Amino acid sequence: MKVDYHMHLEMGSLTLDYLEQFWRQAQALELDEIGISEHGHNFYQYEKIMGHVRTGADAYPEIVEWLDEKFSLDLDNYVALIQAGRDRGWALKLGLEMDYIPGKEAEIERIIQGYPWDYVLGSVHFLGKWGFDFSSEVGWPDRDVNRAYDAYFTALLEATSSGLFDSITHPDLIKIFGHQATIPLDSYYDAMAAALARTHTCVEINAAGLRKPVGSIYPDPSFLRKCHQAGVSITLACDAHYPHDVGNGLSEAIELARSVGYTHVATFTKRRRILQPLD
Ligand SMILES: [Zn+2]
Ligand SMILES: [Zn+2]
Repeated sequence: MKVDYHMHLEMGSLTLDYLEQFWRQAQALELDEIGISEHGHNFYQYEKIMGHVRTGADAYPEIVEWLDEKFSLDLDNYVALIQAGRDRGWALKLGLEMDYIPGKEAEIERIIQGYPWDYVLGSVHFLGKWGFDFSSEVGWPDRDVNRAYDAYFTALLEATSSGLFDSITHPDLIKIFGHQATIPLDSYYDAMAAALARTHTCVEINAAGLRKPVGSIYPDPSFLRKCHQAGVSITLACDAHYPHDVGNGLSEAIELARSVGYTHVATFTKRRRILQPLD
């Protein structure tokens, strides 16, 4: 089965016309099913969880400005839009990409329980108020790269251990701009693989890294191999922010999955996991 379980409508609008462009691209590539996974921070319901990153003297001005237009949409409209697409016969799954923010587990869970999600992705894009994937010019200059990696994997492990999510997305996003840690990463990978297995959480293979300065898929093959050995299932993702990126890099992601031993991909219906053969 050919699926792409990670894409965003945020560069366009929550309209059927725009959604249809994603579905048409999926059809052109003969995908069986796609999952829409809008960012939580586009919705006003998420302000309680993430609003703090734009307040206080230690907030990053560029990120404050970027967040200015966020927290504005209504989750009910989003859910209704995906349903309207399904009513037209489009093979869509209802997903959400949620930032894991330590201490906000109860609020995150309320949103997970409050809507009929097919699946929920857990992400780490923020370390404190620093959105590390925003720009290589914001927060990175003068930063100790090893400490950034340590903070990232510590947060990712916490997100995984929360057991809140169906899959953990782009699980080494910290490499996005090509910064490389000089400390060994094996122990982080081991801990992540064990936590994913323990909480029955999938790991996402995300092809968007191919389009970023790092130029490689998330996660690193050695990380993914450990996940496979630990019995962790995968979800597949291209993280399109525009219709033309649906399925972009999917064959490379599938190739990576196969290279470490995967034969199946996880799909979800109402948060129930069904493994399908990799196509
Ligand atoms: Zn993301
Ligand atoms: Zn995304």
